[in-house]
Amino acid sequence: MTNSFDYQNNILHCEDVALPAIAAAVGTPVYVYSTAYFRHQARAFRDGLKSLGKVHLAYAIKANPNLAVLRVLADEGYGADVVSGGEMARALAAGMAPGDIVFSGVGKTRAELSKGLDERIGQFNLELEEEGVVLAQLAAARGMRAPAVLRVNPDVDAGTHAKISTGKADNKFGVPIDQAAAMFGRLAPLDGIDLKGVAIHIGSQLSDLSRLEEAFAKIGRLVADLRGAGHRITRVDLGGGLGVPYRESDVLPSPADYGAMVARATEGWDVELMFEPGRLIAGNAGVLLTEIIWVKPGVNDPYVIVDAAMNDLARPALYDAWHDFAAVEPSGTRMRANIAGPVCESGDTFAMGRDIDAVKSGDLAVFRTAGAYGATMASTYNSRGLVPEVLVDGDRFAVVADRIQPETILAAERVPEWLTR
Ligand SMILES: *Cc1c(COP(=O)(O)O)cnc(C)c1O
Repeated sequence: MTNSFDYQNNILHCEDVALPAIAAAVGTPVYVYSTAYFRHQARAFRDGLKSLGKVHLAYAIKANPNLAVLRVLADEGYGADVVSGGEMARALAAGMAPGDIVFSGVGKTRAELSKGLDERIGQFNLELEEEGVVLAQLAAARGMRAPAVLRVNPDVDAGTHAKISTGKADNKFGVPIDQAAAMFGRLAPLDGIDLKGVAIHIGSQLSDLSRLEEAFAKIGRLVADLRGAGHRITRVDLGGGLGVPYRESDVLPSPADYGAMVARATEGWDVELMFEPGRLIAGNAGVLLTEIIWVKPGVNDPYVIVDAAMNDLARPALYDAWHDFAAVEPSGTRMRANIAGPVCESGDTFAMGRDIDAVKSGDLAVFRTAGAYGATMASTYNSRGLVPEVLVDGDRFAVVADRIQPETILAAERVPEWLTR
């Protein structure tokens, strides 16, 4: 199974639910997710790593933090990689065991660190030495030792979009690899900390395993150095980042390819390995379902104006990302068009000069591969509502996040007394 979104009788379905039925019930735009696909990917990733023995899987929930999605992944035995107190609360609300939660992020506040300690989460990924010192103090004050690893920046170019590269020396993440051993030596003896090992995460939508392997090799040498200095190293967190196909022609390493590379790179490490996949689990589990409002004549190609916009799916505007566009009931004819949303910015454009299914006002269409970094990045820009989310399971579906109407957002705003008359 590469995709849970296929045509039955020329109507695009998610599993066994026809997308027009969802549009009729919930309206558009709306994100639609396939439970079967989440489960398939969760299992494929685990299978890819089976030669490694017992590993820890922490789904990077920023990719798609919907509570129902987290329930599915908790059910598949996944913990969570969280990057804020809000994400920690979601993982706990979804029933994930605190011990299966990893707390990443370059700007964890003291309040967030304290909350993590009080919840007894399983691992803090330290991003700088001072954070380790503060965490140790907060833990010691509670009579605890905080389980932690030191995130290292290996200075490797992940070969992906600059805005989702995290492992180059001048990125904000991790501590410089050449200073990591000295820092480890200063942090490990602190009372309130149980420094178990190291972590890396070099970027997202990675397509070249050799970059990851190069980074892992550097980590292997660091682990050996740390052991040479007398430290007990029991855990290495290898992060996430594995890419997914956004176009039919994209060829990405499979979880099995990745697993084989990891087995080779980590041979003899003798540690517990932790993984943090996000996009790989969620990317192709979702589409953004939209209705065509107008087909507007343009100078070169017509503009297909859809009711989804950059506030609903930010990736094209943020990263020039490609999302396949397909009609829900294709006529068989094609057209060349630009695709844009209603937001008042030229950046609110999903595609230019693209060969697409011919569509007209009132038709339904989808942007594919919208399950990761989609709804979670949505905003209310242009005073648009927050896009709802639907989860399909076989022939049933449920709204798993309501559409937040502009009126609800307006109701949270106040005019101060001195401006009322
Ligand atoms: C974003 C992130 C991930 C997940 O990245 P994907 O590319 O979605 O797999 C994993 N770990 C950390 C620390 C992250 O910031």
